[in-house]
Amino acid sequence: MRSYSLLAPAKINLYLEILGDRPDGFHELIMVLQSVDLADRIDIRANGSQTIHVRCNHPQVPIDSSNLAYQAVALMSQHFPEQFARFGGVDIYIDKQIPVGAGMAGGSSNGAAVLVGIDLLWKLGLTHDELQTLGAQLGSDVPFCIAGGTALATGRGEKLDSLPGLDNLYVVLAKYRSLSVSTPWAYKTYRQRFGDSYLSKSAFEERQKQIHAAPMMAAIAHRDSPQIGKLLYNDLEKVVLPEYPQVLELRETFEKMGTLGTMMSGSGPTVFALAESLAEARAIREKMQTAIPNPDLELWVTKFRQSGIQVVD
Ligand code: ATP
Repeated sequence: MRSYSLLAPAKINLYLEILGDRPDGFHELIMVLQSVDLADRIDIRANGSQTIHVRCNHPQVPIDSSNLAYQAVALMSQHFPEQFARFGGVDIYIDKQIPVGAGMAGGSSNGAAVLVGIDLLWKLGLTHDELQTLGAQLGSDVPFCIAGGTALATGRGEKLDSLPGLDNLYVVLAKYRSLSVSTPWAYKTYRQRFGDSYLSKSAFEERQKQIHAAPMMAAIAHRDSPQIGKLLYNDLEKVVLPEYPQVLELRETFEKMGTLGTMMSGSGPTVFALAESLAEARAIREKMQTAIPNPDLELWVTKFRQSGIQVVD
């Protein structure tokens, strides 16, 4: 029976601003999302039964119905019951390379890959837009993970405007293996501390219009790397850095090295630094290893990427 292998890339946030509360309980956001080459590989195979099986090489990833890859199949089977009956369930293997609970959308990217894989296996012929609409039901970051590249995301993060591709930048990622930050905790704590200054719903649109004229947008349009580095921004640092001194230390250590720019990604705890070249990125990684010789610290060198889910086999 037919099977597919797909690459499911991670993302970093070049910009994350929290505007306020939405009626659905989520936060209204403005983000600039960027795919990177660091990716999981997802193998998906029709199993000829009506069941869904998930396996993964990473012990922290659940393999039951809470896995986003599993939920992606369940969602597709609800929307396309005839094809589910005809083609049957799937076996999914996740080769996990993206750190888990790291603010890099690993789970969302896996869900996105499975939507693309099922579209192929069940011969649905869905458009990108249709896949992204389905993806939004799975999670706010899933539509971006399908398309990838560089994008301005608003709403919960599911409304996307693609931005000029930035393929010339390298990224050093730093994360303590044993440390993860709960995304719901980060947003809840942010609401407790900053809820008083939240914008009203009527002001969201005004702010979203302004962002198109913001310096970060101009820097991206001009592919001005030093400016992009200077303008990195993440509201969630205000709650995560004081609570997690180890994350703060990573952030400050990168800062002292004089990189192009450094920031926490999403709700953390991954901290990234930008570099103009592979050689520079490798030098930053070495300096970090020397500055913090802790075996629990994991470091990756990766690169900006222009696309999202990719079928490789
Ligand atoms: P985001 O940036 O989208 O908030 P994250 O990068 O912080 O996500 P994930 O790696 O996606 O975090 O994992 C968060 C939690 O989701 C994990 O602790 C795990 O329990 C659960 N999870 C469900 N499916 C997956 C999956 N396919 N891969 C990784 N984690 C998953």
